[in-house]
Amino acid sequence: MPAGAILDLEKFQESERRLTPQRQAVLKAFLELSQEHPTAEAIYQAARRHCPTVGMATVYRSLELFVQMGIIVKAPTLNGTARYEMNKTPHNHFVCLKCGRTYEFHRQQEPVIDRKIKKEGFEVISASMIFFGYCPTCRE
Ligand SMILES: [Zn+2]
Ligand SMILES: [Zn+2]
Repeated sequence: MPAGAILDLEKFQESERRLTPQRQAVLKAFLELSQEHPTAEAIYQAARRHCPTVGMATVYRSLELFVQMGIIVKAPTLNGTARYEMNKTPHNHFVCLKCGRTYEFHRQQEPVIDRKIKKEGFEVISASMIFFGYCPTCRE
């Protein structure tokens, strides 16, 4: 996990006491699944194991809150179903057209486009290039 994400999480845990047990369960579930770019549905299933009274509406509201707090971001997907991931250093995604899985590829260096954007006075908060195709499993 990159340093930025850890810092954000610490900041978040400071205010965690204000969170209801339901929201704590949603956060816990997200952290367990964060490597998989989980959907709200997957987070809901996992959150119910921690707190059986969690409802789907609470999951959606909590995720929106975490997005607003800058802890998590929406990851790109094929069909528009929201998937979530930690807000961390910019990286690229590969979305498989068959199984719909999202894979991550980290960038070796800052792309030329980023430098050009910064030179013109913009501050980049998040960036992602999406590649579409077939993953090794689906190509077989
Ligand atoms: Zn695939
Ligand atoms: Zn990602």
